[in-house]
Amino acid sequence: MNRLIEPKVRGFICTTAHPAGCAKNVHEQIKYVTSCPPIASGPKKVLIIGASTGYGLASRIVAAFGAQAQTIGVFLERAADDKRTASAGWYHAAAFEQAAHQAGLYAKSINGDAFSDAIKQEAISLIKQDWGGAVDLVIYSLASPRRIHPQTGIVFKSTLQPIGAAYSNKTIDIISGHLSNVCIEPATPQEVIDTVAVMGGEDWIMWMEALLEEQLLAKAAQTIAYTYLGPKLTDPIYSKGTIGEAKKDLAAASQVLQQRLRSIDGQAFIAVNKALVTQASAAIPVVPLYISLIYKVMKEKKLHEGCIEQMYRLYADRLYRQDGKVPVDLQGLIRIDDWEMREDVQQAVSELWPKVDDTNVATLTDFIGYRHEFYKLFGFEVEGVDYNQPQLIAVPIPSLEGPQ
Ligand code: NAD
Repeated sequence: MNRLIEPKVRGFICTTAHPAGCAKNVHEQIKYVTSCPPIASGPKKVLIIGASTGYGLASRIVAAFGAQAQTIGVFLERAADDKRTASAGWYHAAAFEQAAHQAGLYAKSINGDAFSDAIKQEAISLIKQDWGGAVDLVIYSLASPRRIHPQTGIVFKSTLQPIGAAYSNKTIDIISGHLSNVCIEPATPQEVIDTVAVMGGEDWIMWMEALLEEQLLAKAAQTIAYTYLGPKLTDPIYSKGTIGEAKKDLAAASQVLQQRLRSIDGQAFIAVNKALVTQASAAIPVVPLYISLIYKVMKEKKLHEGCIEQMYRLYADRLYRQDGKVPVDLQGLIRIDDWEMREDVQQAVSELWPKVDDTNVATLTDFIGYRHEFYKLFGFEVEGVDYNQPQLIAVPIPSLEGPQ
């Protein structure tokens, strides 16, 4: 049945998604990548874990359309039913697969809990059956509020809290633009442990060990996971908070993987990405106001990037450079947050931060741009889409249809 679809926002998520808008988002990202120079020495067979939205989706698009890679994408998304639209990531995956197939590129998807043994086994079987191994890049881009541990069945929930002391600062309502003060209580030691269990590196190691054990990785295969560091301003809620502890654990996992991958001359990396509007970042208090400011400053300085520009730069200027070198910082991290962290950019943000209030938020920050990007995540406010046109909400993901 066709119907008109409107955004229904609850807190920091939108419970509806627009199929045509989501498809257009994907097509625009493909258009950007195909307008850039091809990544000549790029990967050929790429497994993307967390492939349906944000950084993972952009990573998949760059692999496929920038390097002509075959891709398998793993994600957890909701199909449409009688009452509800599918989730945005479902529509993105459907549009991506269709476009990839039209371009003659292999693309298959697995929808389910990436933390589970069953989904890892499904991915392994598919890789064996279709590729016979030889995966040369594994992208780990999950952002999840919970994880069921595959061995113990314990359900861990991640939180976004400071550690040690309560933290107060300004925050913004992402729809009304209203500013308020938020005070977040410090996490208990158990909440820190739980967040590390969800967003830390254990599951990444489990994926890579499963692939190694089955000999499905190519010689010199690479794997990469994403992190955020950010400025002092967001430290209490990010780098020094529960999520920061999880990210330290992820970085430690990259060291473990670096050792494990030696046998195949492989490498494990962490890339520090820029703060961007995604479903995951909208959930972090204070961060949306910081992003509204960073967007304003970076757009004015012509340094603004979205997920796709960041991921293209990650492949073209870092992972797959002509000279074969992967530039890293003193801690061994790949920095594509370099423009966000530029001194002049951060200086401008710290000067603006204390001045922002309800009366000037629309002019001092790019809150309007933030909100627009937020709606776009779900396929709304996408230029060129006719929202008066009724939509078929049941859109198939080609590889999830019929016999697998
Ligand atoms: P996102 O919410 O846009 O995407 C998350 C992805 O994970 C989706 O594809 C979703 O389907 C998948 N997923 C979630 N739970 C799953 C499960 N149990 N099984 C299978 N798939 C599951 O998130 P994002 O912002 O793109 O974040 C991706 C990574 O990038 C995270 O590690 C995040 O910390 C990091 N990062 C984000 C930012 C930012 O500003 N958004 C900045 C730097 C780094």
